[in-house]
Amino acid sequence: MTAVAFVVICVVLLTAGRGLASAAAGEVLGVRFGGDGERTRVVVDLERTARGSVIEDGTTGRVTLALAGVASGRGLNGAGSGLVSGYRIAGATGASRVHLDLAKTAEIERRFLLPPGDGVRHYRYVIDLKAKSGAAPAVAAPAPRNAPAPAPRRAAPRNERPLIVIDAGHGGHDPGTRGANATERQVTLPAAQALKAELERLGRYRVVLTRNTDVYVTRPRRVQIAREAGADLFISLHADSSPDPATRGASVYTLSEQGATRAVRQVLREGDWARDMRLPGRDPSVDRILLDMTQRATQNRSAQFARVLLSHLEADDRALLRRSHRDAGFEVLLAPDVPAVLLEMGFMTNADDERALTDERSRRRMMRAVAQSIDRYFTQPETPTMVADARTTARGRP
Ligand SMILES: [Zn+2]
Repeated sequence: MTAVAFVVICVVLLTAGRGLASAAAGEVLGVRFGGDGERTRVVVDLERTARGSVIEDGTTGRVTLALAGVASGRGLNGAGSGLVSGYRIAGATGASRVHLDLAKTAEIERRFLLPPGDGVRHYRYVIDLKAKSGAAPAVAAPAPRNAPAPAPRRAAPRNERPLIVIDAGHGGHDPGTRGANATERQVTLPAAQALKAELERLGRYRVVLTRNTDVYVTRPRRVQIAREAGADLFISLHADSSPDPATRGASVYTLSEQGATRAVRQVLREGDWARDMRLPGRDPSVDRILLDMTQRATQNRSAQFARVLLSHLEADDRALLRRSHRDAGFEVLLAPDVPAVLLEMGFMTNADDERALTDERSRRRMMRAVAQSIDRYFTQPETPTMVADARTTARGRP
């Protein structure tokens, strides 16, 4: 096969030239898919940065992108998912072509390059495909090239709807932060209840509250509730305070490295973690490694959700603190296996924020935005707000 021969030559040239040109093209590390037959996200994992350009936009039954700066030595190919029935990466000098065979008529909704970050060490080129509206599935749609067998229906809907555990901060004898007219305790519970109502309205989630009355629940107990329930996401609602009454805005916290370390120590001391997770073996060092891995994945997912949440709050015109996604070792986030965020909804010590937090309608609007972000997080593959993150990147380097 000439293609294979060509690829081999590319590899040889690349390997040989590596010593001379350290800025040589990077490799394609892999291709991943997410989404469904309506929207599909294709993630091309890259060793280095790349510039993408569209060669075929989908009207031919195929989407082809050239990735400049990428040498596809390995000639990857395989089955797709969702709107993509199969893919192939072919090399060319200084560039690679990503060919996506479409299972039905679709178009490129957006595409962008993501630099390393959020726990991922390599570049990613993301292609979002959208089924073309008006194109009826299967029957009326033009036959895709090579008329491949229908795309395998992957991702059978999960049996159970995701479980969201909502934690209303403080309560009972613990009032939390004080504003001029209200305390934190008085706004967290109604906010949690409003969020529960919004999520249940969507009909796609199961919801558990760590408390549904004005009682005090210890922080370890809150974490325990989330783990015992098998939470897919834990969100703790709080309100902030500042000595400066002008400071306002929402912020989102996720677990920090220090916090993570603390959680590891905690669960290993408890000793139940390996049992709960049905981990093999009793070797503590093995448990430790597996726990670290779970932890990292959990941290990534928490950070992903935090970004989705922030983008939704932004869209809802919520004033956000300048650096609103801060990491914190809050004890309430210390479940190693449950993605968790802590949302400070605003400042009790700021008059505008306090008014908004104590106003039922305003609170409900905010919780609707939170519910939408949760819905987005669970219904879209990968990190949906990569879109928001990548907007600047995509604009600069199309
Ligand atoms: Zn609080």
